[in-house]
Amino acid sequence: MAFIPEEVIDQVLRTSNIVEVIEGYVPLKQTGKYYRALCPFHTEKTPSFTVNPERQIFYCFGCGEGGDVFRFLMRREGFSFPDAVRHLAERAGIPVPERGRPREEGLLKLFELQRLACDHFRKILKGPEGTAAREYLSQRGVGSEAVERFQLGYAPAEWDGLLREITRLGLPPRQVEAAGLALPRQGGRGYYDRFRDRLMIPICDSTGKIVGFGGRALGEQQPKYINSPETPVYKKGGHLYGLHLASRAIRETRVALVVEGYFDAISLHSAGFPQTVASLGTALTTDQVALLRRYADKVTLIFDPDPAGIQAAWRGLELLVAEELGVGVVILPHGKDPDTFARESGKDALLTQIAAAQDVVDFLLSRAEERTGLQGVDDQAAAARQVLRLIALMPEGVRRAKYIQKLAERLGVSEGSVLAELRRLGSPDSTVPSAPPPSAPLPPAEKILIQICLLFPETRPLVWGAIREEELSASSLRSIYGVLREFRGTEESLARSLNHHPDPLVRQVTAELFVRGMEECADPHRMVQDCLLRLKLREVQAELKSAREQGDLVRVQALLDQKRTLTSGRISETDYIS
Ligand SMILES: [Zn+2]
Repeated sequence: MAFIPEEVIDQVLRTSNIVEVIEGYVPLKQTGKYYRALCPFHTEKTPSFTVNPERQIFYCFGCGEGGDVFRFLMRREGFSFPDAVRHLAERAGIPVPERGRPREEGLLKLFELQRLACDHFRKILKGPEGTAAREYLSQRGVGSEAVERFQLGYAPAEWDGLLREITRLGLPPRQVEAAGLALPRQGGRGYYDRFRDRLMIPICDSTGKIVGFGGRALGEQQPKYINSPETPVYKKGGHLYGLHLASRAIRETRVALVVEGYFDAISLHSAGFPQTVASLGTALTTDQVALLRRYADKVTLIFDPDPAGIQAAWRGLELLVAEELGVGVVILPHGKDPDTFARESGKDALLTQIAAAQDVVDFLLSRAEERTGLQGVDDQAAAARQVLRLIALMPEGVRRAKYIQKLAERLGVSEGSVLAELRRLGSPDSTVPSAPPPSAPLPPAEKILIQICLLFPETRPLVWGAIREEELSASSLRSIYGVLREFRGTEESLARSLNHHPDPLVRQVTAELFVRGMEECADPHRMVQDCLLRLKLREVQAELKSAREQGDLVRVQALLDQKRTLTSGRISETDYIS
């Protein structure tokens, strides 16, 4: 936040309309003062995602996700806060003056170098030095359209082709090394190109910025692939190959096809499957599954039929299942990899295979069947446990129940015995990421008190004078109280500091309190007094209980008097406190 001036952030916030921005992602339907939609952050059948245009805030009553327009973009696009501000500023045509941003400038340089290298490799591929690489591509059935789309290039068999090109543009060789494109010479000074005589395949992040390269040998020389080393912009297993080209199709169909290699992805795109990405390692990583979660509800794995491919599919399953993603597994017939299959058998054959994808239970049981025949009781029990370990990772719900039912059917046992076995396996492994536990409901009087404080600044002095932070029992409300009380700034920046509070629970509660404005509330001061009275009563009630337990009759009498005074016709018959 520190790098963009506050005034600019305020201006961006004032000029962007949260309804317009969110509508770019999910269709909103107006109901009264609010807009509703099916939540883009969790799977649901009836809309609980609510946008309040007046407060410029969203909140989902189903999963608790909420905040301002920046928070929406951060969550939806994976932007950092400054990136979300810049994104909206650009849309609105507001210039963002940047003060010293050494680290980000360094990152910009790294991105720029990848881009320059990519342009260089592409130029070479088209020129006389690119003949062998072009032949290689046409042998593999990669047409010119795919070459353009995936920005393929060629690094010639020279020691410093790229270095010369980039230093000619005035950038120091040291930076080419930092970008992972050159290596220091042994024993002497200077550098040499990392990629030589290789087909160059740029790897992009989800927005299409190049972060690194894969270099494929044209012949049989080893290693077959050389990849960029990790740099500040490239993390192994942190990206999905082709995602920037696939994200739109995935978002539309909510299904992602995941293959292993570059050429699998390129072939599937060319064959008419634009929702394909490649994992590039063998097994999917947590970062990759989190990326998929942003766009897809279901992931279909199309892996090589060799043991390594099957092993990879199997390891990806746990992560996908724990992230509540639907999973399908396709193992192609005749030992063909997806690239070969797509080119030789065509779109329709592949569609048939994808439509017949196995779900988790079928996949694991048929693997076990191939290995052991599943004849004996012991083999069956072992296979069942393998499936159950996966089912145990799933959140409770329809999908989990269906899998349990299916497993029972396939093994010819009762659902009860499957459930018993599941309980025996115990709770899910704690190392697997799972949804946060649902938070306890907030005490109504405290919640409304803080809500009025948020929405009606004029009531705050009354509250500060009547109740201390530590008298509130809910920690999130205590934090909001603390921020409200200490804050010296505009209401806009106050809302922003709550919407971007470091504690996610505080952000969630803030959004919940903000989203339903209380504009219909005629007398906020009286509501505050009612809430305070109820809190006071709660306190007296608790003291009364302990006095009774201790047999302190004098104190009991005094407290009963106090209670009577408090309640004597002074609690109004309003029904807003349930
Ligand atoms: Zn939700």
